[in-house]
Amino acid sequence: MDDVVVIGAGVSGIQAALDLANHGIIVHLVEREPTIGGHMAQLDKTFPTNDCSMCILSPKMVDVQRHANIKIHTLSEVERVDGEAGHFRVTIREHPRYINMDTCTGCGDCVQICPVEVYNRFDAGVGVRKAIYKPHPQAVPDRVVRDTEHCIDCGLCYDVCGPQSILHEDAEKEVVIDADAIIVATGYEIFDARVKVPLGYLKLPDVITSLELERMINASGPTGGNIRRLSDGKEPESIVFIQCVGSRDIPLSRPYCSCVCCMQAMKNAMLIREKHPEIEVTIFYMDVRAYGKGYEEYYERAKGAGVRFLRGMPSDVQADQNGSGLFFQVENTETGEIEVLYPGLVVLSVGIQPTDATSALAKKLGLALEETGFIRSVHDAMDTIGTVRPGIYVAGAAIAPKDIPDSVASGESAAMRAFIDTKKGKAARVRSR
Ligand code: SF4
Ligand code: SF4
Repeated sequence: MDDVVVIGAGVSGIQAALDLANHGIIVHLVEREPTIGGHMAQLDKTFPTNDCSMCILSPKMVDVQRHANIKIHTLSEVERVDGEAGHFRVTIREHPRYINMDTCTGCGDCVQICPVEVYNRFDAGVGVRKAIYKPHPQAVPDRVVRDTEHCIDCGLCYDVCGPQSILHEDAEKEVVIDADAIIVATGYEIFDARVKVPLGYLKLPDVITSLELERMINASGPTGGNIRRLSDGKEPESIVFIQCVGSRDIPLSRPYCSCVCCMQAMKNAMLIREKHPEIEVTIFYMDVRAYGKGYEEYYERAKGAGVRFLRGMPSDVQADQNGSGLFFQVENTETGEIEVLYPGLVVLSVGIQPTDATSALAKKLGLALEETGFIRSVHDAMDTIGTVRPGIYVAGAAIAPKDIPDSVASGESAAMRAFIDTKKGKAARVRSR
């Protein structure tokens, strides 16, 4: 055997898959989205180096695709897990793509001609996508997917597709994999900012989330890197970030720090100031959490770039009919003074939470959850990778909120633990012959 199943193909799962595959292990990489890459593919730059996110992720995605030892299962979910460490039997369900994967070239002619435009989840709703689409230009596999929920069956894409790769009918498939070990790297999803009703998300068009801003700042994103107010399409004169939206919020039963939001806000604030020094940028915070390597220095750089940090948390954002369109008051808790602001754009730094599928998956795998819904490790200090079930490991933000360096490191750790299991399994099989 010598097989490992990795569930989730964000940066952590990708790293685990590559490490195992490079050591001769056959890896089944299971991803519920139509492409691998996870949230990192949505980001513009990464902190603290300001590297282009896709410039460092995309080569790894291509390595995964080309690796002879990795089998990618996109649009797939784990249905059932039987057996035990060294002898798992994992049943996965592959959802239909309505595309012939062998003949589609990923040319995109079908996307061009499709008349249907719908909400684009990859662009966090800032842009639209077609009913037949590629999640983003560097998607792996480089194939389209037909979204039958929104397709009106007009037939245009069938006619334009040279290799006749679009399928009228397609079916779910069940795949059964025998594996020595399993790695769960299912990542996170962002907090639904609508829950914080007074902050006006989706009621006031110029209140957006940090993910929406990421897509706007990205030069290859839906606005070509231009920051625009959704109300009037104009560039804002001032931008305000409100931190800890859905994090460290005890009344909402979300006591934990989401780890990445302070640094993400600083990064985006700095990028805005570098490109548009005329835009005033203020970050409202409870505490600035800059705990990683090079992070404190990054914080100092942000201050040097003219980003204003103000300790205080606005409780609500209101429409202002006469000025910029938005208005709020906040107490500066360092000076005790009340500040009144009329920002052009408000960015809610939304926290991280387990994906909606984590709980059901944990049940299928026999794993325990934290009160927060993240997957429980054996020990928070001495074994953050092992789970209550031998042979099943957890990596990345499925354990708790993590930045990219920590997600990669935990993917590497989980790969090593799974690798040891494959060797133990092999030794046991040799002994029993
Ligand atoms: Fe091109 Fe056809 Fe594939 Fe669409 S389905 S990307 S037209 S090959
Ligand atoms: Fe788009 Fe569906 Fe028409 Fe194809 S058949 S072009 S996917 S609406």
